[in-house]
Amino acid sequence: MKDKYVIAIDGPAASGKSTTAKQLAKMLHYVYIDTGAMYRACGLQTLKQNISLDDLDSLAEMLQDINIRIEYAAAGNRIFLDGIDVSERIREADITRLASEIAIIGIVRDKMVDLQRKMGENGGVIMDGRDIGTVVFPEADFKFFMVADVKTRSLRRWQEAKDKGENLDLAAVEAELCWRDKNDSTRSHSPLRQAKDAISIDTSAMSIAEQVAYIYQVIQEGKKNV
Ligand code: C5P
Repeated sequence: MKDKYVIAIDGPAASGKSTTAKQLAKMLHYVYIDTGAMYRACGLQTLKQNISLDDLDSLAEMLQDINIRIEYAAAGNRIFLDGIDVSERIREADITRLASEIAIIGIVRDKMVDLQRKMGENGGVIMDGRDIGTVVFPEADFKFFMVADVKTRSLRRWQEAKDKGENLDLAAVEAELCWRDKNDSTRSHSPLRQAKDAISIDTSAMSIAEQVAYIYQVIQEGKKNV
């Protein structure tokens, strides 16, 4: 029996994945890996190197040398691209959209999946994303798929921005989320979808504490049965 599980949490944007995953990682003394941040860093790199997304040769060259590093810290992970801390930059709106656009490209996904498998090969990780339970770790020990209605998710994103001093238009936030949902779930390569053996959690009416407690309990009960 192993005690260093791979825990996969997938779902659309703002469904509660990352906040839940971060807290669970602390409770379990696991490493939290935010795979969305990796696609974001990739998107940023194309911008920095002025690479067009239809220029597959330049993209392949860029991917060969890409240096993405995650520094794990209790106060929150930091993500570095070529040694530079890009944790804040990759959260900006232009990169959010670019990440979803670059994530449809097969060679990008192959590279990211490769890196993610290496990061999780020894277990003890909670990885969140869109394809963790279906593609990256189809044999993950626990799989969760978090969803929430689009109004709730939009409000969460809007509130998050407000807390940071940004005043966004709620309708625009919702439109952007809908665009991303569609782009992420209709792409031909590794679309966002629930793995057959994932436990679905609708977080629309749940607090973060409830989400964390629920998953923690499933893992504890699962542990007893392994
Ligand atoms: O999770 P986050 O919103 O930061 O992800 C940014 C984008 O990266 C998503 O909209 C999605 O297109 C892409 N992504 C992905 N597969 C993952 C994680 C993220 O395609 N495992």
